[in-house]
Amino acid sequence: MNDSAIDVFESGAVRLGTNLVCDGFVEGYDFRVQTHVHDDHMGNFNTSKGRQNFFMSLETFALLDAFLNAEIPYRSNFHKIPRGTEYKLRDGSKLTLLPSNHMLGSCQVTLELPDGRRLGYSGDFGWPLEEVIQVDELVVDSTYGSPNSVRGYTQAQAEECLLDLVCKRLRYGSVHIYAHRGTVERVLHIVEGNVGVPILASDRLIREVEVYQNYGIVLGKVESLDSDEGISASRQRAYVRLYSKGDGFGNEPIAGTSIKCSAYMATYSASNPLITFSDKSYSVALSNHADFRETLEYVEATGAEIAVTDNTRNHGIELANAINERLSGIRARPSTNNPAPRWR
Ligand SMILES: [Zn+2]
Ligand SMILES: [Zn+2]
Repeated sequence: MNDSAIDVFESGAVRLGTNLVCDGFVEGYDFRVQTHVHDDHMGNFNTSKGRQNFFMSLETFALLDAFLNAEIPYRSNFHKIPRGTEYKLRDGSKLTLLPSNHMLGSCQVTLELPDGRRLGYSGDFGWPLEEVIQVDELVVDSTYGSPNSVRGYTQAQAEECLLDLVCKRLRYGSVHIYAHRGTVERVLHIVEGNVGVPILASDRLIREVEVYQNYGIVLGKVESLDSDEGISASRQRAYVRLYSKGDGFGNEPIAGTSIKCSAYMATYSASNPLITFSDKSYSVALSNHADFRETLEYVEATGAEIAVTDNTRNHGIELANAINERLSGIRARPSTNNPAPRWR
């Protein structure tokens, strides 16, 4: 670790200043910001739970509460911050979270140090954003930091592609759709009301959907697999079943069609969101991540003079080079961590 104000640790925890990390645990740091609930950002959550003060949006708190049951609401080291409100930390610095258009509750982070310097972390983000953090130094997510990661289609086209495919395959029987948290809710939003068949999910997933509905995001009606309606629907020829983390997709043979909605853009098919594996198996790239060009627009919009590209999951070097070549008034370098590649 070098002596600059921002960096990323080996574990993937993002460091802002000398007392705060995002999405990870590091010994000696009092504060942890949880930007959102995706697995790759939940590192050492249990260690942090006992030893750090947690800061997160109301929505992230509600999702964690729904997944992790009764453990969280009574902990005094969990702090819910409404996004857009400045929160003063014990060490005199000021923390602000802003929406990042990635999933429910996800946020960008700004930390203003007592000397006035503003440090920021993009978190995972979609583009465009209504509000972009304004910072001097920025750690930016590099998921799509490679110049090859340019989407050749719009999000609306990807959604239309999914809906077409689901409607077509329902003629042959049931359709089973797997997606990550956040994306599975988007899938529900796309298909509900448009397919004319029941939509089934586990009670676990239905609880997750309820958190979205509680925050005013109308997704539509889902039947529990275990309810009378669900049981009778699953005996019909055509229905849609949704799966997400914890639902055991792949453990049972699937009679109908299976579709995986990958939040990560398939780089080998940047011009088409659809990949056909067989007539019963497909993937559709629904991405809530900004692509390469959008990431550069984001970096520019933050006003940062120094950017550290998060090199935890590849592309940090490519993105730093691209920023240095294409944007003026800003110096970029990859974060100093360089662990073995990880699957997400
Ligand atoms: Zn994410
Ligand atoms: Zn991520």
